Amino acid sequence: MRSPYWDETVGPQPPCLPLQQDARCDLAIVGGGFTGLWTALLARGQDPQARITVLEAQRCGSAASGRNGGFCAPSISHGVGVALRRWPAEAETLVRLGRENLDGLAADIEHYGLDAEFEREGKLNLAEKPWQVAGLQQMQRNYQRFGLEARMLTGEALREKFDSPIYSAGLFEPNYALLNPARMVAGLRRAALESGITIHEDTPVRQLRETGDGMALETPGGVVRAGKVVLATNAAPPLHGRLRHALIPIFDYALVTRPLSDEEMALTGWRGRYGIADSGNQFHYIRKTRDNRILWGGYDAVYHFGSRRDPALLDSAATYDRLARNFARALPGLEHVGFTHAWGGIIDVSARTTFFAGLGHRGRLAYAMGFTGQGVSASRFAALTMLDLLAGRDTERTRLDMLRRRPFPFPPEPARWLGIRWAQRDLAREDRTGRRSLLLRSMDAFGIGFDS
Ligand SMILES: Cc1cc2nc3c(=O)[nH]c(=O)nc-3n(C[C@H](O)[C@H](O)[C@H](O)COP(=O)(O)OP(=O)(O)OC[C@H]3O[C@@H](n4cnc5c(N)ncnc54)[C@H](O)[C@@H]3O)c2cc1C
Repeated sequence: MRSPYWDETVGPQPPCLPLQQDARCDLAIVGGGFTGLWTALLARGQDPQARITVLEAQRCGSAASGRNGGFCAPSISHGVGVALRRWPAEAETLVRLGRENLDGLAADIEHYGLDAEFEREGKLNLAEKPWQVAGLQQMQRNYQRFGLEARMLTGEALREKFDSPIYSAGLFEPNYALLNPARMVAGLRRAALESGITIHEDTPVRQLRETGDGMALETPGGVVRAGKVVLATNAAPPLHGRLRHALIPIFDYALVTRPLSDEEMALTGWRGRYGIADSGNQFHYIRKTRDNRILWGGYDAVYHFGSRRDPALLDSAATYDRLARNFARALPGLEHVGFTHAWGGIIDVSARTTFFAGLGHRGRLAYAMGFTGQGVSASRFAALTMLDLLAGRDTERTRLDMLRRRPFPFPPEPARWLGIRWAQRDLAREDRTGRRSLLLRSMDAFGIGFDS
């Protein structure tokens, strides 16, 4: 199986030993991705004495947190448009909290000394078809409503940012960041270990149950008894029964080129280090790496019948071919460069594209998941929210309707597979024709959607 390019950018990390005996702690965190590691570190900041243990089934960052594009949105709601459509009454709060969260992320990166190649250089949103241009214009109006800066670019101004024969307009938003996800995980893990947090890798939690005064977490090597538990397991089958139908695993893939020469990069017109994404339901995310490669990801969003999550599905030659063809179409001058890395990852898709958080087991367990492809920055906000919830704090975060209401459950199979196929077929048709089908409009009316 192919591994993410990002893996090569971090030095060897000695594994944290698996749990081999029963243990006790105040807070047990299941999952060692961004969400789990942020929760551990921020919990330490709130209580220097607490005994905090992270239990990770594989290695920290081996799932989505080490495989993503590294786009850090100034949003916790999958963008301003989603906030306005799905949570109009609190859209202003969501937009503000999203921006504050990106500021907080930048400050924490500094504070914990995380060498994550964090760069706040903006994002260019591209449109190919006329209805996508109209979409960008609507996006700009949404931004203006909240006083957010975004510049529409066409013609020469667009070519100076990205020179491709297929895109006719762009919307540049300066407040957007990128990071190197594997280095971010490595930094969070190191900071957690240095602050006295215990991490056990290769330690899957098989079951959770209530005990007299807390929770018991069963692992192959022993039972952990904890006062409180955080579930940060993202796209894995949730250990909390009530969440079983709240998520579906969607596979997303990326390619990375060899390092490009300055002359080759100049063919793209892409001078800065901002990220790029095109429009459409099936969209690409595009960015540079530190060593001048181009990462080209997205487009296919693949669901497998029965919510299969087999590791073999993380590799998909058909998707790599499609991505490579789309790359050549967008950047014909670079058609020859070839790709050195290709990999997949699993996105935890909720039926409303925003994450949700809540409590279970009489307030002893908190969960946050359903990031739907936008969790690099939102995971930090989710961690803070779970800590608020566990402590019983009434905060702006815990009052959010977006978090309090659980998303629509996905139906059981075969209805799940049929419904997803039907919606994806209509989403692809909308990309070709600009027409939104009756099914998609009905889903909009109920606040349902599951783009990645
Ligand atoms: C290909 C791809 C590209 C993406 N690009 C972007 C992007 O550019 N920007 C963005 O904002 N988001 C992006 N995302 C989404 C983003 O990566 C996730 O939202 C984010 O990493 C979620 O972090 P997490 O810690 O919740 O989940 P994960 O990183 O998936 O971590 C969950 C961890 O829990 C562990 N676990 C699960 N079950 C158990 C158990 N029973 N016991 C112990 N451990 C368990 C897993 O092994 C895993 O390590 C992308 C995702 C993918 C897959």
